[in-house]
Amino acid sequence: SWSSSDSVISTDFVGEPAEPESPYRVVLLGASGVGKTAFASIFAGAADSMDSDDCELCVEELCEKEIEVDGEPATITLVDMWDAETDEWTQEQYMQTADAYLLLYSITDRGSFLRASELRITLRRFCPARYTPIILVGNKCDLVRRREVPMSEGRACAAVFDCKFIETSAAMQHNVWESFYGIVRQLRLRRDSREE
Ligand code: GDP
Repeated sequence: SWSSSDSVISTDFVGEPAEPESPYRVVLLGASGVGKTAFASIFAGAADSMDSDDCELCVEELCEKEIEVDGEPATITLVDMWDAETDEWTQEQYMQTADAYLLLYSITDRGSFLRASELRITLRRFCPARYTPIILVGNKCDLVRRREVPMSEGRACAAVFDCKFIETSAAMQHNVWESFYGIVRQLRLRRDSREE
């Protein structure tokens, strides 16, 4: 379920920096416990090894992979930003070098939803490219009874943020790949609109 803000992508991009070529650097952002590691594991193709807590020293985890989206290959370098509570300098560095963002919250945790809003505002400072693709991701949608954030609220928030929206379940492997495909499609839309 995408928000209906497709139109923002087709606006002109005069004065924007050069478009990124694949590999695209995609950063996972979000409060602790929302499912970033689970997302990264699915992306890396290791859905069974969901715990990486044995790697306390890593600030980020990197995984590069070629995927096919709409019949065309794309390489994504996925950066798991660890917890958004990492020291700010490191955080800002990674934020500045990304081509796109997956901004995660848990639908079972309103605090993480508020954190996503804060991160979105922080991102504005680091994304002079006005149309850097961002997808607001409401994860853990399998936990129906523990839901604290209605889907309508997530969608409304994405509309205000000028970004796409999707609900996922890393546990059920539902819509996780869709969110990566969505990022690639948005990056291609930007690329194509510049070539015209
Ligand atoms: P991170 O701190 O953002 O990296 O979050 P993790 O990926 O470590 O996930 C935190 C906890 O939530 C772990 O116990 C995961 O197994 C669990 N989890 C992650 N995604 C989902 C999901 O979609 N559904 C459910 N039920 N649990 C999830």
